[in-house]
Amino acid sequence: CGIVGYVGWRPARDVLLGGLRRLEYRGYDSAGIATVTPGSGSVEVHRAAGPLDNLVRVTDAHPESDVVARTGTGHTRWATHGAPTDRNAHPHTDATGRVAVIHNGIIENFAALRAELEDAGVELASDTDTEVAAHLVARALDDEPDAGFTAAVRRVVNRLEGAFTLVFTDAARPDEIVAARRSSPLVVGIGDGETFVASDVAAFIDHTRDAVELGQDQIVTLTREGAVVTDFHGDLAPTRPFHVDWDI
Ligand code: GLU
Repeated sequence: CGIVGYVGWRPARDVLLGGLRRLEYRGYDSAGIATVTPGSGSVEVHRAAGPLDNLVRVTDAHPESDVVARTGTGHTRWATHGAPTDRNAHPHTDATGRVAVIHNGIIENFAALRAELEDAGVELASDTDTEVAAHLVARALDDEPDAGFTAAVRRVVNRLEGAFTLVFTDAARPDEIVAARRSSPLVVGIGDGETFVASDVAAFIDHTRDAVELGQDQIVTLTREGAVVTDFHGDLAPTRPFHVDWDI
């Protein structure tokens, strides 16, 4: 239901929890964050059903972990597939924990993709339509290790049907996140040495008011330096920059 992603220099956990707090008004049944610590090999995920305070309690119980992470994603869920439990809360990861995904919307053809993954020996850990995307991107990265993160995401989102916003992190790339949008809102925030992606500007308004609205079927690659927007074919896409001059 709510999405926030961050690449920059601030402690990611604080940015993500603050962003989720700003998105609470949208309503949700569970929440979670994934953070990427350089050299760790897997993303660190904390999730909790119920109000955001439950997630804060879970993260507070792990004060030592992910303190140096400067990249990550956060999600508030409004369950459509799978009960609102800790296990079904986002982010979801592949089996190695390398790739994490958060998702708004519905992946309509998830059952066929699940079956394909299960036939290939992949064990799924949740009842969501979302989880398949993490496994598929991890497999795409394995298949073509030199093609890059954005190319792997592009390959996967072209196979998905439905309305979705997806944001991916890769533990091997602590300075990059990739988001894709089809019939679901997504805005990018451009700060000084930091970038954001969110379902609405409220999530990053405390940090920057320079934003870019994504169009239909677009993919954005975020680094500290900025955002590169392409379409689902890989061509550079037009974007609409704007300044948020209203108060939230
Ligand atoms: N369909 C996904 C789920 O049920 C995402 C729901 C949402 O937009 O929060 O987990």
